[in-house]
Amino acid sequence: MATPHVILNDIKKIYKGTASADVVAVNGISLEIPHGQFLSIMGPSGSGKSTLLHIIGGLTNATEGTVTIDGTLLNGMSDRKLTLFRRKNIGVVFQAFNLISTLTAEENIMLPILAGYQDKEIDNTKLHKGLDELLGRLQLTSRRRHYPDALSGGEQQRVAIARALLLDFATNTHGSLLLADEPTGNLDSANGDIICKLLRQLCDERHHTMVVVTHEPSVAAWTDRIVTLKDGAILSDLPNAKPGK
Ligand code: ADP
Ligand code: MG
Repeated sequence: MATPHVILNDIKKIYKGTASADVVAVNGISLEIPHGQFLSIMGPSGSGKSTLLHIIGGLTNATEGTVTIDGTLLNGMSDRKLTLFRRKNIGVVFQAFNLISTLTAEENIMLPILAGYQDKEIDNTKLHKGLDELLGRLQLTSRRRHYPDALSGGEQQRVAIARALLLDFATNTHGSLLLADEPTGNLDSANGDIICKLLRQLCDERHHTMVVVTHEPSVAAWTDRIVTLKDGAILSDLPNAKPGK
């Protein structure tokens, strides 16, 4: 059997309280995520979903247990090595809006790349081709030259998602690990569906592995597998035979 993309082995995360008691946010979670799987993490507020996602992404260290991504053990890596590993191997889809009001939708989407935040050199033709494709799939083509204050909340969030995915489209990357914390948070179902459909396509077409935290069953319905947490532990882990709307 192929090595899983993500292996969590008996992960615990304890936030040490100073004035208050310690908080056990994750309490012994083991999980294997195969390459190309679209997995959702559900569960009530405070059940440890975001903490677990941060641990998978190497953004938070587990107090106990090991994290292995694509055969590489993250435990014990220096901060510098971990940062480089993350940049190369893990994408974070969720971005707080933070759109710049004096830039159009497409300028906002291109900003991280034009500002050179990415390490890779990107061919200008591919960049524009990727941008056009992404705008089309997120139904933003007719809104590309609008400024954020002329966009609806849902459109603004789609612009933020496009910004997070442009590098992927411009370089036609395959097989990445993408993490998203409530990517459709507070959106109506039409907006949520546009985003979920794109994430589903990224798994199907490019064999990305996707882990999405959500409290919405309508989002989880798009995924291959639904892991539900309660009090920092796995309550259920169920396959979804017919992912889609
Ligand atoms: P969820 O995303 O499911 O709502 P979280 O992972 O954000 O849950 O939080 C799990 C538990 O850990 C909660 O009790 C929360 O208050 C606590 N927690 C989260 N982050 C911190 C932190 N940085 N410091 C202390 N406690 C935290
Ligand atoms: Mg959360």
